[in-house]
Amino acid sequence: MLLLTTAVILVIIIVIQAGMLAKLREDRRAEAYRSAENVLRTLALTIDRNLRLIEVSILGVREALALPEVQAMPASSQNLLLFDRAAAPQYLGSMLVLDADGNIVIDSGQMAPRKANFGDRDYFAAHRERDAGTFLSRPYASRLRQNDPSIGMTVRLSRPDGAFDGVVLAAIRLAFFKSLFEKVDLGPDSIVSLVNTSGTIIYRHPSTDDGGNVGENVASSPVFQQMRDAPGASFSGTSKIDGLTRYYVTEKIGDFPLILSIGISTSAIYAEWTLQAIMVGLLTLVVCGLLAVIVLVLRRALIHSYEMEEQLEHMAVTDALTQIPNRRALEMVLDTEMRRTAREKSELSVLVIDLDFFKQINDTYGHAVGDAMLRNVGRQVTRSIRRPGDFAARLGGEEFVVILPSTGAAGATFMAERIRKAIAATHVATEDGHRVNTTASIGVASGIVQPSDPPDRLLREADGALYKAKGGGRNRVVGSHPDGGIAAAQ
Ligand code: GH3
Ligand code: MG
Ligand code: MG
Repeated sequence: MLLLTTAVILVIIIVIQAGMLAKLREDRRAEAYRSAENVLRTLALTIDRNLRLIEVSILGVREALALPEVQAMPASSQNLLLFDRAAAPQYLGSMLVLDADGNIVIDSGQMAPRKANFGDRDYFAAHRERDAGTFLSRPYASRLRQNDPSIGMTVRLSRPDGAFDGVVLAAIRLAFFKSLFEKVDLGPDSIVSLVNTSGTIIYRHPSTDDGGNVGENVASSPVFQQMRDAPGASFSGTSKIDGLTRYYVTEKIGDFPLILSIGISTSAIYAEWTLQAIMVGLLTLVVCGLLAVIVLVLRRALIHSYEMEEQLEHMAVTDALTQIPNRRALEMVLDTEMRRTAREKSELSVLVIDLDFFKQINDTYGHAVGDAMLRNVGRQVTRSIRRPGDFAARLGGEEFVVILPSTGAAGATFMAERIRKAIAATHVATEDGHRVNTTASIGVASGIVQPSDPPDRLLREADGALYKAKGGGRNRVVGSHPDGGIAAAQ
C-alpha cells in the first residue's frame, strides 16, 4: 500500500514535470514559428513592392516607346524622357533598351549608349521566341557594372506585325536581397533564401560560399520541390546544401516566379529547451530517487517494528514450551465464548485435561522427558479438535483446556474421549530407549450459561468433574452433571 502510494506519487510528479516540459517545448516551437512567419511576410511584401515598382517602370518605357512622338525623338531625349520619370528604386542597376540583336539602343546610365551585346542572355532568348510577359532572368554577373551579381527583369518589344524588336531591361542588384536578408536574425542556423520556380537560388543567407549561393541549382532537392509544389506551406525538411533539418515557412513573391523561404533549425529552436529539460529531468530524478529511498527505509523500519510487535503479541498469548495458546489466550477466548453462549443461547463445552501421575514421569525420567511429553500432549490435543472455533490451550503445568463452542454434553464427551485416547496412544522415547506413556483424566462441563453466571462457571464445573475423574481412578472422562454422560475407560 505504502509502495503503491509512493509509486503513484512519483508517477504524478513525473507526469506533471513531463507535461510542463512538453508545454514549454510547444510554446517555444509556436513562438519560433510565429516569428519566422512574421519575418517572412514582411520580407515577401518588401520584395514584391520593389519588383512591382521596377515592373511598372519597364512597362512604362515600353508604352512610351510605342508612341510615334517618342519614336521621332533623338535617342538622348528619349533617354531623359523614358528613364528619369522612374523613381529609381534602391538597388536598381542599369535600365536598358536592347534592339533585336541584343545591342544597347537606349541606356539609362549614359546619354550615349554603352557598347555591349546581351544577345546571349536567357531573357533575350526567352523573348525572341515569344512574348514571355514580365521575365525574371537567372542571376548573372553584370557586364556594365563590374560583374555585380544581378537578375534582369525584362519585357518584350514587338513590331506592329508582332516580330521581335528587342527588350526593355531593368537589372536588379542582388545586393538588394543581401541587405534585406542580413537583417534577419532568427537564431543560429536559420536561413533565408529566394529561389526561382525552376530551382535556381537567387540569394541565400547565410550562404555556404560567402556569395549567397547565387545561381546554384536545387531543383532536385526535396525541400525545394515541396515549396515549389505548395508555395505558402510550412514543413520540416533537410537542406540539400548543409544537411541541417529545419522548419521551413515559404511564400510566393506576388505574381513573380520567385519563392521566399525561411528555415529555422529545429535543434536551435529546442537548444535552450533541451538544456531546461535536462536540468528539470535530472532534478526530478534526484527528488524522486530520494523520495523512493526515504520511503523504502521508512518501510523497512515499519515492517521491522510490525514484525517485532507481532512476535511480542504471539509470545504474549503462546505457551513457550508447547507452542500452543497459553492461559492468557484461554482467558480471552473463554470470556468471548461465555458471552456468546449467553447471548445466543447456544451450548458451550469446556474440557479440563490433567495428565495422570505426571510427577512420576519427571521423577523417573527427568524433566526433559517430562517437557517432551508435554509438547507431545499439546500436539495431540490440538490435533484432536477439528471445527473452526474449537480452541485448545495449556493452562499451566500438565493441565490443558479445550473450548468447544456450539457443542453439547454428548459431543463434548465424544471429543474428550478422542483426546484421552490420543494421549494414551502416544509416547516419547528416552535417550536410553524407553518408551514413556502417559494417560490423562478429563473433566467436561457443558451447557447454556446465563448472563448472570460467573465467567469461569464452566471452567470450574469442568475442574470439579476432573476431580471426580481423578478420584474415579484416572484415565477417564467425567461430565459435570450427574447425567452428563459420564464415561470412563480403562
Ligand atoms: P495426578 O494424577 O494426581 O494429576 O498426579 P500428578 O503427579 O500429575 O499431579 P501433580 O499436580 O501433583 O503434579 C504435577 C506435576 O507436573 C508437577 C511437576 O513435576 C509437573 N510439571 C508441571 N509443569 C511442568 C513442566 O513445565 N515441565 C515438566 N517436565 N513437568 C511439569
Ligand atoms: Mg495437575
Ligand atoms: Mg496430574
